[in-house]
Amino acid sequence: MATKKVGSAGRFGARYGRKPRQRVAEIESKLKQWHKCPYCMKKRVKRVSIGIWKCKACESKFTGKAYTI
Ligand SMILES: [Zn+2]
Repeated sequence: MATKKVGSAGRFGARYGRKPRQRVAEIESKLKQWHKCPYCMKKRVKRVSIGIWKCKACESKFTGKAYTI
């Protein structure tokens, strides 16, 4: 199956229509970036799972919002 140009949201196929998938692709591209740690202020935070974030610099694990800290 050919995927359309919606980045990582292509896996959802055609089920949800075009606009929501573009929004998902936008959100997910942000997820893959490094986020700023509220403890050491370094941009070394990755999302472990929904709402759970971990800093690679100070090893702190904390909760945040589902898609951003
Ligand atoms: Zn940190």
